[in-house]
Amino acid sequence: MGKVNVDWSSIGFSYRVISKRYVANYKDGKWDEGGLTDDANVTMNECAGVLQYCQECFEGLKAYTQKNGDIVTFRPDMNAKRMINSAKRLEMPPFPEEKFLEAVDEVVSANADWVPPYGTGASLYLRPYMFASGPVIGVKPSDEYQFRLFGTPVGPYFKGGAKPVTICVSDFDRAAPRGTGHIKGGLNYAMSLHAGVVAHANGFDENMFLDPQTRTYVEETGGANFLFVTKEGEVVTPASASILPSITRRSLVYLAENYLGLTVTQRPIRFDEVKDFAECGLCGTAAVISPVGRIVNHGEVIDLPSGMEKMGPITQKLYDTLTGIQLGTIEPPKGWIRKIK
Ligand SMILES: *Cc1c(COP(=O)(O)O)cnc(C)c1O
Repeated sequence: MGKVNVDWSSIGFSYRVISKRYVANYKDGKWDEGGLTDDANVTMNECAGVLQYCQECFEGLKAYTQKNGDIVTFRPDMNAKRMINSAKRLEMPPFPEEKFLEAVDEVVSANADWVPPYGTGASLYLRPYMFASGPVIGVKPSDEYQFRLFGTPVGPYFKGGAKPVTICVSDFDRAAPRGTGHIKGGLNYAMSLHAGVVAHANGFDENMFLDPQTRTYVEETGGANFLFVTKEGEVVTPASASILPSITRRSLVYLAENYLGLTVTQRPIRFDEVKDFAECGLCGTAAVISPVGRIVNHGEVIDLPSGMEKMGPITQKLYDTLTGIQLGTIEPPKGWIRKIK
């Protein structure tokens, strides 16, 4: 199969409709067989639970072409498990892990000509999601759901090297204590759009959200977890029940300990400790690690010693190790790479 004719370096991060996607429906207490479809549009009742009460959750992962030409996905079982947790918290019927993996494999295989070639820095972004498709007017969980999974090619996150970003401490909270911060639901994004627009209008790339209960501890940004490096070279990441458990961050922690011999501590991190750190990065599927150069808390400006030109040295090593595993130039831990074709 030939690749489609696209300038992979300049496609950016936006939705582009491609050949096939996967759909399964839940009705009468069970999921149907599910399968691929050409139809990129969803048709549902005007009173569908997702439209009225936001009963929806999603995932995000990527398919890569490795150096030897294999098309692979990175730890899709972790996405399947996380989506099961999200579904349970939102009173939705979990989509089984085996079916989830089958959907990933089928969509990637059917769109193999849309998986960008090795060396372009581009990849096929995959978006699994599920939502209440049945009508609900009195507030309760729906009786019917749809699971879908589509792909869209995305360009290299950093064109011409990773540029450190400037972030600000938000006046808004991202998640309530004992709320839904730990699940991947559209609801957490709807309520953070305003905070994002305000941050951008003030000239910042991203928000740093603090813990909603005391506003003393660092939580995460709207869509990525924090990873800090101390001046002694120790990796520290925030512990909190309202942080979304990033698969990228958990993978980096494993690699820091087992591949790079670094000490990693996961603990609550007070905002007033941040000024003493040497490096800071934002971890997520989109960029793997996006380095932070400056953090602004109203009048207070914290310039990380790693500066505004490049990633800090330990952040860079972590980035190179994880991307090397994804692209097949570094031996992966067992079970991290799922070969599709
Ligand atoms: C998806 C997401 C992340 C990143 O998770 P990855 O599994 O690494 O992509 C971080 N924070 C939030 C709020 C998210 O929704």
